[in-house]
Amino acid sequence: MPAYDILKDVEKWKDWNSSILFTSRGCIRDCPFCAVPKIEGKMRSILTDVENYVHGGHKQVILWDNNFLASPDWKEVLENLQEIGLKIDFNQGLDARLIDEEKAKMLADLKIPVVRMAYDRVGEKNIIKNAVNLLAKHGINRRKILFYVLYNFYDEDQSYGDTPDIFLTKTRDIQELGCVSYPMRFEPLTSLKKNQYISPFWTAEELEMVAKARRVLGYGGAFPPYEGLVNKFKNAKDFDDAFSLHPLKNKN
Ligand code: SF4
Repeated sequence: MPAYDILKDVEKWKDWNSSILFTSRGCIRDCPFCAVPKIEGKMRSILTDVENYVHGGHKQVILWDNNFLASPDWKEVLENLQEIGLKIDFNQGLDARLIDEEKAKMLADLKIPVVRMAYDRVGEKNIIKNAVNLLAKHGINRRKILFYVLYNFYDEDQSYGDTPDIFLTKTRDIQELGCVSYPMRFEPLTSLKKNQYISPFWTAEELEMVAKARRVLGYGGAFPPYEGLVNKFKNAKDFDDAFSLHPLKNKN
């Protein structure tokens, strides 16, 4: 148990009310843009007795597991979280490929303010659609589902990378599902400074257009499915048109 008590003496943190923990480490996958397999290694469960790591008085549990649903003990932990009854934040995102009927139902029975997942490859559209439909069927509001959307990724080994127009397609796909998209700019593990890397398929200007659109058109850095924003992206003829800053109608 971390010494959460010491936070009450620090002005900035005195109201902190969330217990943070990992129930697993590692991942079953090896996505080329991800640091987790390199840093944490193979998937393994490290604890199931979450209640012993929740500080008395805290209102929320934050799990930092990087692929929670791939843990061999995911079910036991979800049952445990249900018994604890606190709000739960799967902070690092859930793997859409692993969502099935049983998991969707168990997740919907928890108090989860936002379900986070990722939409990395454009070929995964049917997978994310299936995950969203299952979660919605069991009662999770689509607007409470957020997808991290990777962009600016380039894989030197495969000479493959996403383009600005692929990023627009992924953003539209999320909006079509009624969910929130959160652009996630790729940065290589070797970077020493944030937001310096530019993929061969992107330009500095295009990356800046995304950053500006997030600030001006989005909310909290994300693109929620606001009617005006959905129409802007849907009717745009290409990336430049979509991410240029025309004034929006119906930003609600
Ligand atoms: S599934 Fe997620 S955590 Fe696992 S390697 Fe891929 S991006 Fe990383």
